[in-house]
Amino acid sequence: MDAINRIRACFPSYCCLCDSRGQDGLDLCGICRDTLPDNVCACVQCGLPLPRVAGIKRRLCGRCQISRPVVTEVHAPFLYRYPMPYFVTSLKFQGEQKYARLLGDLLAQTRLSVASETWPEALVPVPLHRTRLVARGFNQSALIAHYCGQRLGLPVLNHVVRRTVNTQAQTGLSRLQRLQNIRGAFAVTSRRLPAHVAIVDDVLTTGSTLRELARCLRRAGVSRVDAWVCARAS
Ligand SMILES: [Zn+2]
Ligand SMILES: [Zn+2]
Repeated sequence: MDAINRIRACFPSYCCLCDSRGQDGLDLCGICRDTLPDNVCACVQCGLPLPRVAGIKRRLCGRCQISRPVVTEVHAPFLYRYPMPYFVTSLKFQGEQKYARLLGDLLAQTRLSVASETWPEALVPVPLHRTRLVARGFNQSALIAHYCGQRLGLPVLNHVVRRTVNTQAQTGLSRLQRLQNIRGAFAVTSRRLPAHVAIVDDVLTTGSTLRELARCLRRAGVSRVDAWVCARAS
């Protein structure tokens, strides 16, 4: 990790939003970094933004209080508000891969303040179905996981789980439709999995994809599944 950060330090970074010099090794200047929509107070199990209550750090939303957790902890450091949709859509639909580095770096940077005992042993990107991967040419979650893992020195497991069903895009579907759409969509393809992993994705909306993938990993023997997601839509 140190070697990679040393190499990066030799090449100046520039802000993706205003072209000023980047700060802290990010492709963002300090001023633009401060305008990002931090998800300051969120449910620990689903990342849903909650009203701030002084003195209480670990909180659960109403839905998570009555359901059994599949995902132990969600790290969703930003809300899906400008400029996060710009970063995500430029990456996904215009293929601008510099945003994968930015999102991966931000995910890592926001995680660095948390004690490393609670970090996973490896990152697992949400896989794309083969058909979509061929059409897009890359998996945005895998790229984000790559840069995040590089910064934190965590391995990325790209081939331990497969998307076996080419599901309809989740955008525009209700919570129930999303659940039905994603059910049975993943299959674990490796017998040797770490005990603790974190799924990596770009945006979390209802969490149905995350939960289905987490269920699949848990059935395959992973004892703790967290999720690290760049932005939380609410
Ligand atoms: Zn800037
Ligand atoms: Zn919740």
